[in-house]
Amino acid sequence: MSVRPAVIWFRDDLRLDDHPALDAVARDGRPVVALFVLDEVSPGLRPLGSASRWWLHRSLAALADDLGRLGVPLVLRRGPASIVVPALVAEIDAGLVAWNRRYGGGEMAIDRDLKATLRERGVEARSFQASLLFEPMALRTATGGPYRVFTPFWRAARAAPPPRPPLAAPTALRPRDAEAASDRLADWRLLPSGPDWSGGLAETWRPGEAGARDRLRRFLDTGIYSYSLDRDRPDLEAASRLSPHLRFGEISPFRIWAEVAAFAARPDAPIASIDKFLSEIGWREFSHHLLFHFPDLATRNFQARFDAFPWRDDPAFFDAWRTGRTGLPIVDAGLRQLWRTGWMHNRVRMIAASYLVKHGLVDWRDGERWFWDTLVDACPANNPAGWQWVAGSGADAAPYFRIFNPVTQGAKFDPDGVYVRRWVPEIAALPTRVLHAPWTADAATLASAGVRLGFDYPRPIVDHAFARARALDAFAATAAPH
Ligand SMILES: Cc1cc2nc3c(=O)[nH]c(=O)nc-3n(C[C@H](O)[C@H](O)[C@H](O)COP(=O)(O)OP(=O)(O)OC[C@H]3O[C@@H](n4cnc5c(N)ncnc54)[C@H](O)[C@@H]3O)c2cc1C
Repeated sequence: MSVRPAVIWFRDDLRLDDHPALDAVARDGRPVVALFVLDEVSPGLRPLGSASRWWLHRSLAALADDLGRLGVPLVLRRGPASIVVPALVAEIDAGLVAWNRRYGGGEMAIDRDLKATLRERGVEARSFQASLLFEPMALRTATGGPYRVFTPFWRAARAAPPPRPPLAAPTALRPRDAEAASDRLADWRLLPSGPDWSGGLAETWRPGEAGARDRLRRFLDTGIYSYSLDRDRPDLEAASRLSPHLRFGEISPFRIWAEVAAFAARPDAPIASIDKFLSEIGWREFSHHLLFHFPDLATRNFQARFDAFPWRDDPAFFDAWRTGRTGLPIVDAGLRQLWRTGWMHNRVRMIAASYLVKHGLVDWRDGERWFWDTLVDACPANNPAGWQWVAGSGADAAPYFRIFNPVTQGAKFDPDGVYVRRWVPEIAALPTRVLHAPWTADAATLASAGVRLGFDYPRPIVDHAFARARALDAFAATAAPH
């Protein structure tokens, strides 16, 4: 008797290692059909930004190669998942569809409905925990509600049973005899053209599972030793840069956890750095916890009293920010790093976001959308959570009176100016003492560095003391407890 094939539906888990849905089917021994659906139309799904589309193309190509080595083609289909998945199931008479769970509101609605549809048609649907170490429904406060503050959330997570060991990638899969029809990846036009701005992304990243494993290995060989000390330094390579790989699920948090735990057992292990790194992985878990419980995280103020905030509509300010022409070198360096590489250092994300929201009084949602379009790690949970945290409207947010001074932040975290000189080359010849505030340099210093302020590089588009006072007034009126 022939066994009905299984569909493995890949989504935010573009890997073979520690892929519980794939593992279950591989053990079953049934014929496997691997599927990815580009769904840009279902309600509640956020269409990917441009940098993420670039990443997705490269990541799908890598996944197709990896599956191909096991003899299984990756089937690409486009359209609403609620139609595309059942259509493929009917076409190949599949008996099972397996996937790893997602936690966004729109995604969960699709999965819930699909499960019901498939079951009605006598097709088994199985879902697995793979992308989060601690699923949002598993962690509850003492009163049964969601966590809104990171520290107790992470304390509860660390007190819960430890994450399971990761599963090895299957060494063999049974392909179906006949290949199902597939779109051509190139026809999806995920890569930019006219103009192709992706050169800097391609130089910086290697999307796919092998690239992800390589990043983790390099981080455990080098960066982790000084992570707790240096993670705030954008001029150093201290952070892991795993974020886009985690975003697309090219590496599993369970794999990261296990490798870090094994590393922690070494006699010379840097324990403070390891704890700090794991707590950053914890922030990712926390953001997803928030997204699960508050699916409108990207569009609605977490704290409703921010709904009345007097945001300014200032396209010129936003444009200067977006293009890295604010006249504040650390802010401009960050926005230019983002544009060129699709990534920005975490400390600089905080400084740049704070500048837009507090110096400019521009709505955090505008900044969030820009990051969404330009980050290769643009994450439906981490991005809005990060922006709301900076704006002060979020859960466990930064206090409103914390208004970063970009000059002192620059001097503190880029003390030798290496980061600014790399991304803002037109002021690279300035001495370090004035590099983070070029307008304070005297005429002779500017002249000998070949810098004409207002021509080669802008003067600050807003005065810090003025902007700070304006923001304090606006935020105090909104954020003061009633
Ligand atoms: C305004 C703003 C927007 C952000 N948008 C995103 C986003 O779209 N996608 C994204 O992955 N991160 C976002 N972050 C969080 C953080 O900046 C990045 O995760 C981090 O810079 C990625 O670099 P890394 O992989 O070297 O991090 P590491 O320091 O090596 O940390 C390891 C991993 O932990 C997670 N992590 C680290 N810091 C945070 C954090 N503050 N919140 C949630 N998870 C974290 C990431 O998955 C990261 O890859 C944002 C932060 C801010 C302030």
